[in-house]
Amino acid sequence: MEILRRPVVVAVVRQGSTIFSILTLALFALLSAVSAQLDIPLRDDLLQTMIREAGSGNLDYRNVLAKLEFQGIQQCSNNVASQWAYETNVNEFTQSQALEAQQLYSEFQNQAWQLISRLNINGIRDPTIRRRLTFLSIVGPAALPPGQLERYNRVINDMLSIYNSATICAHNDPFRCGLRLYPDLSQIMAKSRDWDELQYVWIEWRRRSGNQMRDLYEQLVDLNNEAASYNNFTNAAEYWMFPYESPDLQQELDAAWNSVRPLYEELHAYVRRKLRDLYGPEKVSRQAPLPSHILGNMWGQSWTNIVDITMPYPGKNRLDVTQEMLNQGYTPIDMFRVAEEFYVSLNLSAMPPEFWASSLFVDPGDRDLVCQASAWDFCNRLDYRIKMCTRVTMKDLITVHHEMAHIQYFLRYSKLPREFRDGANPGFHEAVGEAVALSVATPRHFQAIGLAPRYSVEPSADINYLFALAMDKVVLLPFSLTMDKWRWDLFNRVVNREEYNCHWHRLREQYSGIKPPVLRSEDDFDPGSKYHIPANIPYIRNFVAGILQFQIYRALCQAAGQRSLNDPQKPLHRCDFYGSGAAGGILGRLMEKGSSIPWQETLQEATGEVRLDGDALREFFRPLEDWLRTENLRTGELVGWTYDGDYCKRSIETAGLQVYGSGFYNSAFTVESPTCALLITIISIAGCLTSSLQSAIVHL
Ligand SMILES: [Zn+2]
Repeated sequence: MEILRRPVVVAVVRQGSTIFSILTLALFALLSAVSAQLDIPLRDDLLQTMIREAGSGNLDYRNVLAKLEFQGIQQCSNNVASQWAYETNVNEFTQSQALEAQQLYSEFQNQAWQLISRLNINGIRDPTIRRRLTFLSIVGPAALPPGQLERYNRVINDMLSIYNSATICAHNDPFRCGLRLYPDLSQIMAKSRDWDELQYVWIEWRRRSGNQMRDLYEQLVDLNNEAASYNNFTNAAEYWMFPYESPDLQQELDAAWNSVRPLYEELHAYVRRKLRDLYGPEKVSRQAPLPSHILGNMWGQSWTNIVDITMPYPGKNRLDVTQEMLNQGYTPIDMFRVAEEFYVSLNLSAMPPEFWASSLFVDPGDRDLVCQASAWDFCNRLDYRIKMCTRVTMKDLITVHHEMAHIQYFLRYSKLPREFRDGANPGFHEAVGEAVALSVATPRHFQAIGLAPRYSVEPSADINYLFALAMDKVVLLPFSLTMDKWRWDLFNRVVNREEYNCHWHRLREQYSGIKPPVLRSEDDFDPGSKYHIPANIPYIRNFVAGILQFQIYRALCQAAGQRSLNDPQKPLHRCDFYGSGAAGGILGRLMEKGSSIPWQETLQEATGEVRLDGDALREFFRPLEDWLRTENLRTGELVGWTYDGDYCKRSIETAGLQVYGSGFYNSAFTVESPTCALLITIISIAGCLTSSLQSAIVHL
């Protein structure tokens, strides 16, 4: 499922958050290693003049910002154009052009940062100017001195090289080797129901990926903290939390999670019973956390792939309009026109002519390209595009609406200065796209656009629909929380390096009720088996978007008169706000603020709420939660879980325990090509980004 895909280039737009960019980071890691070695001098006369003026105290801040805006738009636009050229036509030439453009852009960012860092921002009274300069003053690792920056990039590169080149041999077939995470291992995790095979693949993938990068990751923790201190943060945890502008973010996130947790626990208990029925009570205990390897996904972050064996009402499916789309002769362009009409019906914008002229709607089939759907803002207030290898399916029709929500967001905040052209916080872009997707996916909507006949939804089909959605959206929440809480604890030094792996499993158990299939130790490094850890990409935005999308959706449904707590005919999950100018007004005002004010204010205006809150999510899933509770009571299932023994020991040897497949724990390893050729690896890294995003952001 690609609908939660964050557009790669959104992050490029925002200067102050290089670290939060996905594409930028991969490219940047490769490029900065080069630029740091060259120690590129300040070349730009304009910036040099301003830096001199800053030194003499004669600086007009408005003037500085106006010049940076003018230059920044050009630089950003050139860079995005090169990345577009590369992703829509992957070859050596476009790749080197993209690298060069990214390097130039990094230089510009660094120069702007050098300028801003000489200013006394706190002394500025105008809050907007102060906010703009603050955003410009945070450039993440780009603030490191050249030698350190090179080390930082090298460490990430080496870890990604391990991750991207990791392969394993087949279960019970040592001569069939070279199996990769995508597509081989992810397919086995999704489809196999063989306990031993799943356990073998789970262990082997970790042995070949995470375990090989533990030393490198320890270095990265220090480098992240050093980079944070150059940006005037106490440590990298503080830096990573900065975009959320909350003095007690951790408590806020915990509170939001606790508001969802009763639903998660009912789901968890029900799934555990179904898995116990399949694998037997000796393998799946009545009370323990779930074994992580039988959940249909390498990391247990989405359980969508085991919906077939857990479905509440097998065979009762909700609508699929794909065949009707084909019958009606739909083309990909028609799908984009239908999506455009959705937004126009809300009194939001039609797509500009440049969008129709320059977007890529189908795979042209004559060249390599990065097919992952994405939405692009070329920074110049003119050029907005979608890149998508669209097929005529219901799933893709929903994705088209999601991607176009990003374009709506771009258009809506386009009048703001560049620093503010971003989501209200890093979760907002995806949350808006998903709120729209929830509306478009309803039977009511497909009826409205003539793709489905009038019919009444069977309650059992509704339960199945909500169940499949929860196995993805609800399950991702505790995983997302663990991904960044674990890293924050490392950056904060709450956890020392002798406990990295066991701390990971403590958090997995605490938040998700999931345990490793075999005893783990500090010789392992299981977090490293997930792409975003070696790539050093924050993950918490997925949690934030996962909660927020329901808050936004509920507010839009309320405005559209489509939600009523007192009317059983209008449960939240059946709401479609298509055609509602009132809903569109709320959405438009939310989007046009960009990141110019704290997100809590933006949220309050749109929804009346001032913080993340799982209440809307609970309301959406209420019929499912009621069904699960009844079902768990009926079967006498324990809701929740109890710790049932050691999941991780500091040392396997001193633990003195019999360990499954103990040969796996201490095997020697040679790092494959530690000096991976920068230019050659970019394609594989970009490819890996694409594939890992599919399972990650999307749900990742
Ligand atoms: Zn998206």
